[in-house]
Amino acid sequence: MRKKIVAGNWKMNLDYSEGLSLFSEIVNMVKDEVTGDQIAVVCSPFIHLHSLAQLAKGYDKVAIGAQNAHQAESGAYTGETSAKMVKSTGAEYVILGHSERRQYFGENNELLAAKTDTALKNGLKPIFCIGETLEERETEVHFSLIQTQLEEGVFHLSTEQFAQIVLAYEPVWAIGTGKTATAGQAQEVHAFIRNAIAEKYNQQVADDTSILYGGSANPKNASELFSQPDIDGGLIGGASLKSRDFLDIVK
Ligand code: PGA
Repeated sequence: MRKKIVAGNWKMNLDYSEGLSLFSEIVNMVKDEVTGDQIAVVCSPFIHLHSLAQLAKGYDKVAIGAQNAHQAESGAYTGETSAKMVKSTGAEYVILGHSERRQYFGENNELLAAKTDTALKNGLKPIFCIGETLEERETEVHFSLIQTQLEEGVFHLSTEQFAQIVLAYEPVWAIGTGKTATAGQAQEVHAFIRNAIAEKYNQQVADDTSILYGGSANPKNASELFSQPDIDGGLIGGASLKSRDFLDIVK
């Protein structure tokens, strides 16, 4: 059965000591809340990863992730960080294809497919983000756009590889805007995604894939969103920077 996951995405926030103190609070607060098939993940900047992984030791329901990793194994790529390096910190997850990386760093589906392959090869679990802009929703191309993001980004994977990934539906118009998709809008897309997985692989693979919602999720709207049949948790930006809010979302 698929896991229920709340993943925080700190983005480019918190210096080293701020990150450590926030994470210490988070671990203390959520450690007894995540049980069974539930996991809390914190995706931090690279500089925090190793220390957070140390703090998370002994809590097998609290995991660490990065927010990016390079598609090459190693080499002359000044300023970049490889999947192997991320894995060596103790991190288990990596966010790939976040809309901010697609928008500001020109990451396209082809590049993201390569990043996914390298992440998987190095034992990381990608949290692969897909989602449409406001214009794409208004012109009603969002379903075909999401289908293409899946086909070009992750549908080249074998069934065994696909079992290692988590998907996150993040409508770009809802990210950091305070404008959340309604539970109905999100469920509609999540059901579409699960159906696309069933058509590509099979129903079992689709049923086993965790699909997270992201975009202005907060303690107020999380329970309605997460109670939808195809929403298996959330990828949380702004609200993951406050331990209390993160805890309430996990709860
Ligand atoms: P937000 O960000 O919760 O601040 O909207 C979500 C994300 O970008 O993953």
